[in-house]
Amino acid sequence: SGYHRVLEENRKLYNQVQDLKGSIRVYCRVRPFLSERSSYVSTVEHIEDGNITISTPSKYGKGCKSFTFNKVFGQSVTQAEVFSDMQPLIRSVLDGYNVCIFAYGQTGSGKTYTMAGPKDLTEKNQGVNYRALGDLFVLAEKRKDNFRYDVAVQMIEIYNEQVRDLLVIDGSNKRLEIHNSSQTGLNVPDASLMPVSSTSDVIDLMNLGQRNRAVGATALNDRSSRSHSCLTVHVQGKDLTSGTILRGCMHLVDLAGSERVNKSEVTGGRLKEAQHINKSLSALGDVIASLAQKNTHVPYRNSKLTQLLQDSLGGQAKTLMFVHISPEPDALAETISTLKFAERVATVELGAAQVNK
Ligand code: ADP
Repeated sequence: SGYHRVLEENRKLYNQVQDLKGSIRVYCRVRPFLSERSSYVSTVEHIEDGNITISTPSKYGKGCKSFTFNKVFGQSVTQAEVFSDMQPLIRSVLDGYNVCIFAYGQTGSGKTYTMAGPKDLTEKNQGVNYRALGDLFVLAEKRKDNFRYDVAVQMIEIYNEQVRDLLVIDGSNKRLEIHNSSQTGLNVPDASLMPVSSTSDVIDLMNLGQRNRAVGATALNDRSSRSHSCLTVHVQGKDLTSGTILRGCMHLVDLAGSERVNKSEVTGGRLKEAQHINKSLSALGDVIASLAQKNTHVPYRNSKLTQLLQDSLGGQAKTLMFVHISPEPDALAETISTLKFAERVATVELGAAQVNK
């Protein structure tokens, strides 16, 4: 009967979502109060086992809304704790898989802090980028009797749907194209590819990249919050017995701020920026949703960002999204919209809701 068909469809969908839960993980992180604003009351009411409850006061009284993710990190969680269970992900890059880790959230919610770290970088407050590469070197060293690994990085920026190399020394502003080369595994073949073999190599290159990213920014135009930056780590491993070559890659992406811009308040360049950001973030959401539904057509080509990540989203690739929220009451609307986006990506709720229908 029709009813049974619907049940069967729902069961299939649920299984697909369960399959996918292993490959797309969503972690939520709450930024601590910045000291000068610490008199505020946090909008985060409660955190427990992957659940986060946000209080949503309105003129009708006190309300709240809960969201579920693979993990939720509260304000006092350290950089080391955030990174603590990521070793399997790093190991899979050495095994020849593609991995994509990205940071999503409104400007000022802590994306750069999670991925890179604060401006006064110490070993203790280093972000995911440094830790991931550090672990990669340690694991490669452990396998050195059986494998020989070469690691190289690229760092690019996507601003207004234009791709720029961040690892140039002369400050040149060459525009780059994205086209996947199946031979080399490089999808931005003309971006500088720098070999790295130690954490200090990585620190030097990240500093160069960050300096180049600041080019074009003025006090009023903090470009870094309106561009996506991507550190791509290419790993090539040679099996010393069989001679087989394995290729894995890891994209570490600090996305542009997700805040919605009030169209009536901005014009010209600022409006164009906002439209490009909206376009690429919603393209990212669409790609992930369509992967979750196992659609045969996945709309990768709708933005530069999704083109860049094409071979690292879906299929055998593993994806981890860190969604960031600010605890201040004046960020509430953005916080809710961020968590809704993240929940769409996590699809856990979608799966459950469809089954219960
Ligand atoms: P975004 O990249 O989302 O715009 P930032 O990473 O620049 O945000 O964070 C905004 C400010 O908050 C920075 O001064 C940063 O150092 C600080 N910050 C963010 N997250 C944390 C954290 N978990 N612990 C301490 N300070 C943080």
